[in-house]
Amino acid sequence: MLALQGAFIEHIKALRSLDVEAIEVRKPEQLRDLDGLIIPGGESTTFGKLAVEYGLIEPIRALCNAGKPVWGTCAGMIFLAKDIGRAQSLLGVMDIQVKRNAFGRQVDSFEIDLDIPALEPRAPFHAIFIRAPLIAGVGNDVEVLARLDDGTIVAARQGNVLVTAFHPELTNDSRLHKYFLERLKKDK
Ligand code: GLN
Repeated sequence: MLALQGAFIEHIKALRSLDVEAIEVRKPEQLRDLDGLIIPGGESTTFGKLAVEYGLIEPIRALCNAGKPVWGTCAGMIFLAKDIGRAQSLLGVMDIQVKRNAFGRQVDSFEIDLDIPALEPRAPFHAIFIRAPLIAGVGNDVEVLARLDDGTIVAARQGNVLVTAFHPELTNDSRLHKYFLERLKKDK
């Protein structure tokens, strides 16, 4: 669990409720023994700055390239993207175009029941969006996992890398955490 800043405590609670050992990662050497990494919501510009300062960019890229499951929620999704249309330190490992703060000031946050066909059991997922980004474009190797009613992409996956524009750690629904733990390795 990348714990530079943001909503990492909630992810750790969700993982522990599934009997998964979770640690707060702040230093490159802590990445060495991980089976996977979650990059939480927060402020992506801050992640970028701190990750550069702590020498985390290359080691996290290496983890992604080694096929370890990596999941970015909200700001974590921005941080994983290749293209966000502006200069900001990014990991750049996922072939998606992301637009930050895409839903405007008036709708700072909203909640919606999403259909995510990959989840089991299949039932609406209550998704909480907070100053959320959206995915404006995806490369050929990216699988779209969920869209809003107007077609906007809000969850996707490229092999071992998963991104969601919303915050699954803020609800009690652990299906996405289970998907991350069980499926990202299996059907790479
Ligand atoms: N607006 C934040 C950003 O651009 C993301 C918000 C969030 O993670 N909840 O980095």
